[in-house]
Amino acid sequence: MNSSVPPLSAGAAAFVRRAHGLYIGGAFVPAADGRTFATYDPSTAAHLADVPYAGPADVDAAVAAARSALDGAWGALPALVRSRLLVRLAELVEENAAELAEIEALDGGKPVSVNEAMDLPAAIEHFRYYSGWPTKIEGATIPVYLPDTLCYTRKEPVGVCAQIIPWNYPLMMAAWKLAPALAAGCTVVLKPAEQTPLSALRLAELVEEAGFPPGTVNVLTGDGTTGAALVDHDGVDKIAFTGSTEVGREIAARAGARLKRVTLELGGKNPNIVLADADLDAAVAGAFDGIYFNSGQTCIAASRLYVHRSRYEEMVGRLAEAAAKAEVGPALDRATRFGPLVSAEQYDRVRGYLRDGVAAGATLRAGEVPAESPEGGYYVRPALFTDITPGMRITREEIFGPVLVAAPFDETDEAVALANDTPYGLAAGVWTRSLAQAHTLAARLRSGMVYLNSWASGDPAAPFGGVKASGIGREMGQANLDAYLETKTVWTNLAP
Ligand code: NAP
Ligand code: MG
Repeated sequence: MNSSVPPLSAGAAAFVRRAHGLYIGGAFVPAADGRTFATYDPSTAAHLADVPYAGPADVDAAVAAARSALDGAWGALPALVRSRLLVRLAELVEENAAELAEIEALDGGKPVSVNEAMDLPAAIEHFRYYSGWPTKIEGATIPVYLPDTLCYTRKEPVGVCAQIIPWNYPLMMAAWKLAPALAAGCTVVLKPAEQTPLSALRLAELVEEAGFPPGTVNVLTGDGTTGAALVDHDGVDKIAFTGSTEVGREIAARAGARLKRVTLELGGKNPNIVLADADLDAAVAGAFDGIYFNSGQTCIAASRLYVHRSRYEEMVGRLAEAAAKAEVGPALDRATRFGPLVSAEQYDRVRGYLRDGVAAGATLRAGEVPAESPEGGYYVRPALFTDITPGMRITREEIFGPVLVAAPFDETDEAVALANDTPYGLAAGVWTRSLAQAHTLAARLRSGMVYLNSWASGDPAAPFGGVKASGIGREMGQANLDAYLETKTVWTNLAP
């Protein structure tokens, strides 16, 4: 591994060193019981900072602050002012993008260049996109059959929202969650993942600077128990969660028992199909980035590759060659394209799958089973398995690491059957020069998103989400705005 890590900018260094507080009711405060936990740099495994560990009293305080903002200053703001505040937040994130990209790289291990090119612009544009919505949220006048009656609908914010996010795109996920909720007029308690609490705390400072009324946005750093306390809290009206299917199921059950609104973005084991007529250069590049981007720690990772037998050996050979050359290294090194995995736990998990694949008889065409104890950071090289069977764990389970499994197919129907043979249904891809084939398969693949001759295209206006065990509801676009709104029907007797 090559490494030439430049020093951290003064701004990012000062932020990381600062005493960190929970953001509750417009103030940065320690946890009520004074507890903290550590966050680490996955590129080196070194201790980075201690942050407050929010317990039940902090959850109570944050939910109360969110409720009072909803019933008070925030709830009273005209839509146009909500819009301006979101515009200001987008500007502030943009002004501080370089620092945020470094904080993100340090805390989560994603290459700083990737944060600058992808995560930061995506977060900024998300706030910008939703800043346009507050002034366009309209009810309707309903043409009812009753005489002398006026019936209309109002779109009202769902209320206090608990937003629980993962570590793979910490800042971008915060933006994905906050922007639609705030556009709809909701208030929020955001809980970042324990592995990556820092960028959410820096974002809280920018929320403060933008001038949102106290309590509109609250940030609680903590772990799964903090998240669970939020889910169970009587003062929370809606839960928006991104993370594992396992935790998503639990949240859905708990939310269901309390009839809380819930949206879930969960895992995937996403199939990528390459037909015989595909542009192989494009397919190789798309499949490579599709799985290895962010070291495979992506819900829409293109983790299962099905290639027509006539192109299979060539495609797999080219992918293995590219994987062998991948620049894996520390996140702050500008030469790095693929950073470490986020944590020791994730390293062990991915290592376990690599061992399992080898033991099950699959062929490791690229990559290796990494050492039991990582040296320095949690690095795993891009790996590619061939000779897989549909029943292997590496074929069925979401690995969330840089591990691709590949198999050939002969008939298109066989490829569709293989692709749909999964409990998940988040994303799927098709590579072909035939328009008819592309759109026919787009209709036959059971997933929330289909990429044709591309992978992972996205835009704040375009719905994002999954079917089956990949989740409930959609992020982005008007679909996610609607997930933060309730419809109230108002009946008026005009001839009393
Ligand atoms: P996870 O446990 O689902 O964590 C996601 C978020 O939920 C974190 O903020 C987590 O808090 C919180 N959480 C955990 N248990 C909770 C509970 N019972 N109630 C409420 N909130 C809870 O995911 P993980 O353990 O970090 O990662 C494990 C696997 O999940 C990965 O290997 C991957 O397969 C999948 N994953 C998927 C996505 C995605 O984008 N769909 C993202 C991340 C992970 P703490 O982390 O602070 O404990
Ligand atoms: Mg960390």
